[in-house]
Amino acid sequence: MSTNLTREYDQILSGDVTIKKVSSDDYTHKITFSKKNISKVLMYQVWSSVSDFTNKERIVFRIKAKKWVRYFFPNPPPVDPFTPTTVMELDHGECPFHKNNKNGCKHVFSINNAKVNKRGQVVFYVSSKAIDRSNTNTLSETVKLLKKIPTGSFHNARFDIDHIAIQISTCISACQAKYSFQYCATNCPKKTVTGKIITLTL
Ligand SMILES: [Zn+2]
Repeated sequence: MSTNLTREYDQILSGDVTIKKVSSDDYTHKITFSKKNISKVLMYQVWSSVSDFTNKERIVFRIKAKKWVRYFFPNPPPVDPFTPTTVMELDHGECPFHKNNKNGCKHVFSINNAKVNKRGQVVFYVSSKAIDRSNTNTLSETVKLLKKIPTGSFHNARFDIDHIAIQISTCISACQAKYSFQYCATNCPKKTVTGKIITLTL
């Protein structure tokens, strides 16, 4: 058995959101999810391409959004934070920048931080600043709009969140459990748990 197997999980979340610009910054926006319609985070596995396990033993599960936030965006943040790139999809008629797009529209940014606020709502702090920054002057209008983050209230916004890699070395059999997964903490985003085995019960 390889000692460098990596499970990678793509992640999807949806809900009604309010997006506000964070003052004094052209890029950073705050996305607050309504408690009412927020989905669980769907995590579905893609094996890394180097793995012998490609296309085998995929795990798909859903985790409560608050739990996902607390787990992957701990406070204080880790030294090497998880800052995934995210595609946000909005329905037709929702976005002020894409009023004529009959199939809705997409926007791209990274989640720089996330938290659960005092009212129990999931909040993302996102920015498109790092998206293709070096080519800003040559980007087409379409791509420029992709990076522009709309503000306002949106129904059923979908977030397709980049994969997170979870390296496992010794506990692969434990990872097959249907309703929980374990991994060796060598790559744990929390950093504070190195050397222990983490169990995330869903
Ligand atoms: Zn749009």
